[in-house]
Amino acid sequence: MIVAMQETATDDQIQVVVEHLMGLGFSVHRTTGERQTILAAVGARTDFDTRNLEVLSGVMEVHRISAPYKLAGRGFRPQGTVIEFANGVKVGGKDVVVMAGPCSVESRAQLFTVAEQIATAGARGLRGGAFKPRSSPYSFQGLGLEALKLLREAGDKHKLLVISEVMEISQIEVMLPYVDIFQVGARNMQNFNLLRELGKVKTPILLKRGIAATLEELLLSAEYIMAGGNYEIIVCERGIRTFETYTRNTMDISAIPVVHKLSHLPIASDPSHGTGLRDKVSPMALASVAAGADALLIEVHHDPDKALSDGAQSLYPQQFADLMDAMRMIAPAVGRAIA
Ligand code: PEP
Ligand code: MN
Repeated sequence: MIVAMQETATDDQIQVVVEHLMGLGFSVHRTTGERQTILAAVGARTDFDTRNLEVLSGVMEVHRISAPYKLAGRGFRPQGTVIEFANGVKVGGKDVVVMAGPCSVESRAQLFTVAEQIATAGARGLRGGAFKPRSSPYSFQGLGLEALKLLREAGDKHKLLVISEVMEISQIEVMLPYVDIFQVGARNMQNFNLLRELGKVKTPILLKRGIAATLEELLLSAEYIMAGGNYEIIVCERGIRTFETYTRNTMDISAIPVVHKLSHLPIASDPSHGTGLRDKVSPMALASVAAGADALLIEVHHDPDKALSDGAQSLYPQQFADLMDAMRMIAPAVGRAIA
């Protein structure tokens, strides 16, 4: 285990941590660099809670060397990962990137109308499902290839990145010419065969957290993709299943700072699926920006009451424009800007 002390840690604080580690049976190797002290604790013991160390005064971060993920861990790239796209948009840098659009691509008229509205409001990415993972087999399943072509055309017209969900291995090849980001949906977070195949492509991946997945499981899924050679991954909090039934899911805002601490990968927030209720989307989007989200994924529909999927959680275009304005006010408070 590695304990990195804060640059400002005092000798007394370091000593307290050393004694704590020795009390757990570790032998401790202390390295004092120019800026900070690193404590390497060596021992076989694993039945301890690293949070007990994290809360000690002067401790900056604690890493189990035995973390099951290596490539996705913060230590692999302490400076963080920035994913740069052809249109100049960067995810993981100072700017917060907003991607928006309908849950499903329903028609040319619908997509082009929404694309224009979100672009005018300042979005940088166009989201839209071509292949839809619906809970019921009788629900609208998406327009497939036709939707991908429409997404690309609308995206190019408005200089928006195109993001769409890939549900199975056979769709990767079909989607490659049309998307800038492959979305892996919550239901596929642990489709390890799909993740392995996505490790072989060069296109960035947005990996959604599974409905009941821990953050460690989310990062292990990212590790599957990275192990194949694709390091350009944005992980995404989209709400988890809890005992609460008021909202569709429970939006875990704390996942944002936790992922930033554990991993170098950028994290996106999807408050649309996170809450499932239109009037809860904007407050959770603002909270996500305040919590440090690197990107936002927001469902917007020009006529949500007639949407073929997820209408109840889709913002009206004016609501989205107002949300963009509000996010532009929140972002500077946490040292960010909206891209
Ligand atoms: C979606 O983005 O429309 C979607 C189906 O998301 P999730 O996989 O998070 O349910
Ligand atoms: Mn949806």
